[in-house]
Amino acid sequence: MRIDLHTHSRVSDGTQAPAELVRAAATAGLDVVAITDHDITAGWEEAAAAAEEVGIGLVRGIEVSTRFRGSGVHLLAYLPDPDDPRLVAELGRILDGREERVPAMLAQLRALGYDGATEEALAEVAGDTEATGRPHVADLLVRLGAVRDRNEAFVRFLSAGGPAYVDRYATDLTEMIRLVTDARGVPVIAHPWGRGSADVLDRDAFVVLQEAGLFGLEVDHLDHDPQQRGRLREIAGSLGLAVTGSSDHHGLGKTNHELGRETTRPDQLARIVARAAELGSPTTIVGRAL
Ligand SMILES: [Zn+2]
Ligand SMILES: [Zn+2]
Repeated sequence: MRIDLHTHSRVSDGTQAPAELVRAAATAGLDVVAITDHDITAGWEEAAAAAEEVGIGLVRGIEVSTRFRGSGVHLLAYLPDPDDPRLVAELGRILDGREERVPAMLAQLRALGYDGATEEALAEVAGDTEATGRPHVADLLVRLGAVRDRNEAFVRFLSAGGPAYVDRYATDLTEMIRLVTDARGVPVIAHPWGRGSADVLDRDAFVVLQEAGLFGLEVDHLDHDPQQRGRLREIAGSLGLAVTGSSDHHGLGKTNHELGRETTRPDQLARIVARAAELGSPTTIVGRAL
């Protein structure tokens, strides 16, 4: 059984429509796929319909932008109630922050001499997404010929400290773990030791976060080398946290993140699904039984 628990559609910063993403997952030989767009559940319905159609299991989730001790941390929220009022309000706040951030980044780029960095040009690149963010600004820089690909755009302009970087609102991680659990979802930290969060997320931090409701760690992710995976697996094992693995697929938006490139063990997914049921979530796996 092949399970990929972290992918993006073009509802956030992937390049495939939710239905296309689900069909591609079936074609890639996956038995279960999770849709986890950034801070938004707008792709869930379309993805669920496609999953029923092709007979693949769909786990509905969100990758939430949070902050912990000054660093950005991504939190995967699996199977929460999408109508939980407090979760909806907080995701709205994060999305509003995103909306204010993008025009500010474009203004910085224009100040740097990239006159084509306008909101109209960005809208063309971003298509019909409701969650525009840095990856779309990166795509615009590619189109303007300023950089070769998204990666170069981040390295030269868009990463923290870069000339076009603008900070934005993110929920405190501990608070978001509580919010997700209250919304009867299952919180798992995405790529904990990728990007900037390795320094703040040590074993002691995981202990504290587990007390707040943290359920698992995404260990098998392209951002982690074999040594980091070994250490994270050891920590998760000693604390009784679930271990997941996923591609973090973005369609054509990121290279080397093909669907199914990293996978989650069926027993770990079963734990997540059982936890959501135990919390009384109205959301469960659809399309195919475990
Ligand atoms: Zn992420
Ligand atoms: Zn992601």
